[in-house]
Amino acid sequence: MSEDQTTKHYTNGEITIVWQPQLCKHATKCWKGLPTVFDYQKRPWITIDGAESAAIINQVTQCPSGALSFFKNAEADQQ
Ligand code: SF4
Repeated sequence: MSEDQTTKHYTNGEITIVWQPQLCKHATKCWKGLPTVFDYQKRPWITIDGAESAAIINQVTQCPSGALSFFKNAEADQQ
């Protein structure tokens, strides 16, 4: 596996959030936009069950640094 060891995955069974902390620019966009999922004061700071998948995808795609990304589990399973 060539993936950086600090990369973390959070899944709700439908989608998986991929978090690469070394890329995060702390723009605060995610925790202001969807605080029920992203809360930097919590550990772990991502609560994947805090919102519907569609809302999570919408927020993740707004991350300006690329630290947050996602994939759909069903599509990953087919590969
Ligand atoms: S939106 Fe992206 S860059 Fe900004 S704090 Fe969240 S993960 Fe980090």
